[in-house]
Amino acid sequence: MVNCSLCEKPAVYINRISGKAYCKKHFLEYFDKKVRRTIRKYKMFGPKEHIVIAVSGGKDSLSLLHYMVKLSKRVPRWKISALLIDEGIKGYREYTKEDFIRVCKELGVEYKIASFKEYFGYTLDEIVMVGREKKLPYQPCSYCGVFRRYLLNKVAREMGATVLATAHNLDDIVQTFMMNIINNNWDKIIRLAPVTGPLDHPKFVKRVKPFYEILEKETTLYSLLNNLYPKFVECPYARFNIRWMIRRQINELEEKYPGTKYSLLRSLLRIISILEKHKDEVIQGEIKTCKICGEPSAHEVCRACLYRYELGIMNDEDRKKIEEVMK
Ligand code: SF4
Ligand SMILES: [Zn+2]
Ligand SMILES: [Zn+2]
Repeated sequence: MVNCSLCEKPAVYINRISGKAYCKKHFLEYFDKKVRRTIRKYKMFGPKEHIVIAVSGGKDSLSLLHYMVKLSKRVPRWKISALLIDEGIKGYREYTKEDFIRVCKELGVEYKIASFKEYFGYTLDEIVMVGREKKLPYQPCSYCGVFRRYLLNKVAREMGATVLATAHNLDDIVQTFMMNIINNNWDKIIRLAPVTGPLDHPKFVKRVKPFYEILEKETTLYSLLNNLYPKFVECPYARFNIRWMIRRQINELEEKYPGTKYSLLRSLLRIISILEKHKDEVIQGEIKTCKICGEPSAHEVCRACLYRYELGIMNDEDRKKIEEVMK
């Protein structure tokens, strides 16, 4: 058995890069220091904020909610709320929703659940079915990602958020980085910065990622040590996503060459700073306002409205407007 490098109690975690081992108490201190350092380094929050935490009900987002509620006790002018987007994925979302509500109640946090059904009239399951019938070339995760990002911004703003915090950890970030390189999506790589926005648009809520430098195994351990670990349920659409293959490969590399993930993160930060200097070429112009729904958009019509149009799940008035714009 390995003992803690600081107090000789049994270790629950070994940092493979520094070689240091930590018992429960010292792991939680190490975790707290690391997250606070990340928040400070990237200037994520000011002294007065309404921080809305985007929670999926999975272990990372429950950990972020738990951590931020604890941290907010030391910052009197912070308000924390939680937001869950219910895409409408049968056999998955109903379970994570239960965990979300339970943890919010335990922490005494105000929360909101916003569903695809309520805002778009269709669940993700229904959208996927319509997309297949119409033979549209999109995978379930494409609809899910676009509609979820759209709602997160819109609903967080409606809740009065000054900043929206998401639970992306270091593993998520480097996986998305690799996926975007494979897909030649340089504009999406800029979005992988630890802080995005406030973009030059009054309706865009600033986004931050407090777990940016935290490994997935660290957020997992944090959730276990705080009894947050939810039931394991996997999204039925996950197998269509290239992420799982990339995840396995990066994990294999990290196993053989410890430090690979941090190294990829450093490369990403370097690339982002270069891309920022060429923003106009990468993002192609200023942030606009969608001519259909009025939300911030990279183009005349936002991706969510375009999907709604292609799926045929848009009202007649908006459909006419979009056809006018596309003429
Ligand atoms: S795996 Fe895809 S469809 Fe499922 S929740 Fe994630 S992004 Fe959405
Ligand atoms: Zn210890
Ligand atoms: Zn729109």
